[in-house]
Formats: sequence, C-alpha cells, structure tokens
Amino acid sequence: MPENPPIEYDFPDLRRWEKGAAPYIHVFDSGVPGPTVMVAALTHGNEVSGAVVVDSLLERGLRPRQGTLIFSFNNIEAYLGFDPKHPFKSRMVNEDFNRVWARLDQPANTQEMKRALVVRPFVEQADYLLDLHSMHDDGVPLMLCGPLDRGVEWAQRVGTPVDIVRDRGHAAGKRMRDYGAFGDPASNKTALLIETGQHWRASSVAVAKDVTFRFLAATGIVEASDLPADWRQSTPERQRVVQVSHAIATKRGNFTPVRRFAGQEVIAKAGTVLGHDDGEPVTTPYDDCVLVMPAVNRPLRAGVTVVRLGRLL
Ligand SMILES: [Zn+2]
Repeated sequence: MPENPPIEYDFPDLRRWEKGAAPYIHVFDSGVPGPTVMVAALTHGNEVSGAVVVDSLLERGLRPRQGTLIFSFNNIEAYLGFDPKHPFKSRMVNEDFNRVWARLDQPANTQEMKRALVVRPFVEQADYLLDLHSMHDDGVPLMLCGPLDRGVEWAQRVGTPVDIVRDRGHAAGKRMRDYGAFGDPASNKTALLIETGQHWRASSVAVAKDVTFRFLAATGIVEASDLPADWRQSTPERQRVVQVSHAIATKRGNFTPVRRFAGQEVIAKAGTVLGHDDGEPVTTPYDDCVLVMPAVNRPLRAGVTVVRLGRLL
C-alpha cells in the first residue's frame, strides 16, 4: 500500500455546532424577502476543506442581509470517525451519502439514508445550493454543474475555477445536487458541486474559501464586504466547459492504465488506448477527449468509475 497523502491543515472541532435547526444544521433567516441559500460541507466525511469554510463562517457569525442562509455538515458521523491511519475510510459510514437521493422513499437502513432524511427538508427549501467536495487524487479544481444550462450559467457567474464539468451524475445513484427541483429543467433552483482539489491539501481550503465567497456574494444574500476579503483569489482569464459523454467503469477491478494520467488531461487523437480492462483496450472515442477526474492511477474495486470522458464545448 502506498503511504497516505499528508494532511496540510488542521481539522476543525465541529462538536460545538451540534445544536441547530437540526443536528449540525444552522438556519439564519434575515426576515427580509430573498432567496434561501444553502452551503453544505462533509457530504463525504473526509472532504474537510469545505468544513473549514463553514466552521469559519459560523464562527464569524455571518448573517444574511436578505433571504435565508443554511449551513450543513452532512455526513458528520463519518467525519467524527476520522482516523488518520485510515483517512480514506471516513468518506462514509455505511454507504455514499451522495448516491441515496433517488431512494429516500425506501426504508432508511443506513446511517447515510437516515441523515439524508434529516438534511432533505433544508435541501428542498434551498433556491441555491453549494455542495463543497474534494478529491481522492491530486488534480485541478472542478465545478460540477449538472446537466442543465442554468448550472453552467451559475458556474460562470461564480467565475472560478477554470474547469466547469457538465454532467448527469452517476449510474450508482442520485446526488444531492441533482435532487428534486435542482434537476428539473422547469425550475429556477440551482445547485453547484465544487471539487476543491485533493482532500487534505492546503490549496483545497483556499479554493473552498474563494468559491464560497463568490457563490454567497453572487446570490445577493450577503455583500462581499461581509465576507473575509482575503478569501477571494484572482479570477481566471477564462473558464472552459467540459460536457461529460462517457463514464468508464472497471468490470472486475482489473484496469491497467498505459501510463499515469493528470486530471483534465486532453488526449488529442480518437482511438488512443488509455489502458486495458480485463485485457480489453479502453480507447478515447473522439479527438480532444478530456479525462475528467481519472482514478486510473490506483487500484480500484469492481464497478468503480476509472475515468469520465468529456468534450470541450
Ligand atoms: Zn465528495
């Protein structure tokens, strides 16, 4: 087994935020008409950059000037079980919190389904949702905006990071960002999911701060001057949108890449072999194919997505 990556920042003590509108969920109503905005951290329990940001905003006592502001630490149970010797295990307790959202009408027999039922009414209230994630592997930050035009528009309004990924989510189950009105073309409700970079890089915290600053200011429920000025980073000259077209999963966990791949690497030629799954070549289906969050550089279990492929729009 390779060594675990270093942890470059201090994890916040979140137990002080247990008491709220629901456990580890805080709601601030300005009393003035305006949108309801939700910022969620710890949808995956070991993705801590967003928790640093939400902890800090709660600590600072940020309040909305209009509308309602909701903060949530979603999979808090997984986070509280964090073990630095096995840091990847605290992603979840029983199952992935971000794959249960199409089956919340079924019996809640996992920690994550029980917690999703607690979180759901707040998600349903939100007009704008920012879900703060980070990545297993080192890679450039990505804004996952879902399949709809207004997701792309919102990601462009936020203005960072460079890469916007337009996608339909996962065959393994519906994500929170695609739940209910967020996935409805007829609604105006919009959710964005930011992948800030590798889970425990200090740079991931910087990205989470910058994106949260911009997102909250863009909704108009706070003014930029209400937020810590040093959270905002410079704006990239341009953003690019990648439309995800394929998800490549390993059949039995026997995927062998031909080499190491970088996140958002662009493969020029169609038909380029990326690796072999059970001996079968996996190739790029078109020219200028973008490798979205390749997980091909490490051993994977059967059925896990090794890479998603996308086109530059
Ligand atoms: Zn995540």
